[in-house]
Amino acid sequence: MIEKYRDIAPDKILSEINALAGALRGHTLQHISSTRIGGGVAEILNRMIPWTTSLGIPTTWDVIDGRQDFFEVTKSIHNALQGSDVEISCCNKEIYLAHLAHNAGKIEPDADVVMVHDPQPAFLIEYFPHRRKSMVWRCHIDLSRPMPAIWRFLRPAINKYAMAVFHIPHFAQKDLTIPKVLISPSIDPLSEKNRELTQEEITRIVEGFGIDRGRPIIVQVSRFDRFKDPMGVIAAFRQVRRHFDCQLVLAGGGATDDPEGPMVQAEVEEAAAGDPDIFVLFQPTDLEVNALQRAADIILQKSTREGFGLTVTEGMWKGKPVIGGAVGGIPAQIIHGETGYLVNSPEGAAYRIRYLLSHPHAGSVMGARGREHVRYNFLITRHVRDYLLLMLHVMQNESERPVFIGGVTGKTGRPGGGDIAAKAGEKS
Ligand code: UDP
Repeated sequence: MIEKYRDIAPDKILSEINALAGALRGHTLQHISSTRIGGGVAEILNRMIPWTTSLGIPTTWDVIDGRQDFFEVTKSIHNALQGSDVEISCCNKEIYLAHLAHNAGKIEPDADVVMVHDPQPAFLIEYFPHRRKSMVWRCHIDLSRPMPAIWRFLRPAINKYAMAVFHIPHFAQKDLTIPKVLISPSIDPLSEKNRELTQEEITRIVEGFGIDRGRPIIVQVSRFDRFKDPMGVIAAFRQVRRHFDCQLVLAGGGATDDPEGPMVQAEVEEAAAGDPDIFVLFQPTDLEVNALQRAADIILQKSTREGFGLTVTEGMWKGKPVIGGAVGGIPAQIIHGETGYLVNSPEGAAYRIRYLLSHPHAGSVMGARGREHVRYNFLITRHVRDYLLLMLHVMQNESERPVFIGGVTGKTGRPGGGDIAAKAGEKS
């Protein structure tokens, strides 16, 4: 696996992976999450598991199951944890706990290190007191300002984990007594969604949707979710179109754990109806996402709340200027004015789109800088390196000590990690 990434990822990170894998070979890793399809968590795990397995670390992935009512409750919990004013009734808590009890009877957290992803399966830890030292809670959302009632409900369970891992410092919940670790997510440059494509491939796919490559294309790829603000994107586009002949693509699917998707999609389709320059594409394949992002002149991710925002990473890796909402993990990725722009309103987005459409050279320069920024900070190789470090840390039972693992250090700077060779050596 490492050799495939030789001329893509920084050499130093590949050497670090080698050193750490030597110390961990034969140990096991298990992920537990709530869906295999849709959204950033599934996206990362689908790429990450073959990586750790190829390094001699057998890796498994369990998914909790549940009825529609369970996923409605977990969606409300998810929203309330990100600050939405949503009440979770006692009845809903019971639905949640009953499903977790059912799943605890089916899933055995028995690997050397177990990563439980996001709030949906978080309560599982209550059922495995003897495994707590090896269980890590991997939080993919912004937990900085949860609704107090839902946080009071969840916090005692989270505090039983060996550690909690957050994407960026801002997301971490101060009110936790367990160590907090920082590891940014990543994209895989060799996946179908990110691999290089020829211009012919891009044109064939994009024109297949009726999109005209001869006119500017603005693309937002994301689940149909209100926090991704697709209606704000349409409002911004309509302002821009008074001045520029251009096209908008809103491409998205639904995640199996998100029951709100179809409703939001219907609203977007209604808003776009009758406009031949707005393309609402449902459930694009990875190859289609890749081609749409590569065909774009500008990538948007105009979220009003966001986890990390992998579509921003994907857009920057494709050498595009990216305009993103100044929320969640987006400001940790876009360097404002250098790799793209951070915005707070449809008007702000429209203003920046107009600037980039009238200064295409500036857009290309920003895109090239964005690609380098991703190369050092947000490729899967750095992520694998950080997970291996985390495994070592958990297995050495160091959870009582504070730890800093990943993080972005600068424009094209290398993320942290300390003296990794020494760390791997300690273990072997
Ligand atoms: N994605 C996709 N098809 C879709 C919508 C999204 O492949 O129809 C992908 C997108 O390219 C990205 C991921 O799903 O890789 C979304 O991750 P992000 O962090 O942007 O948002 P999330 O959905 O996790 O909130």
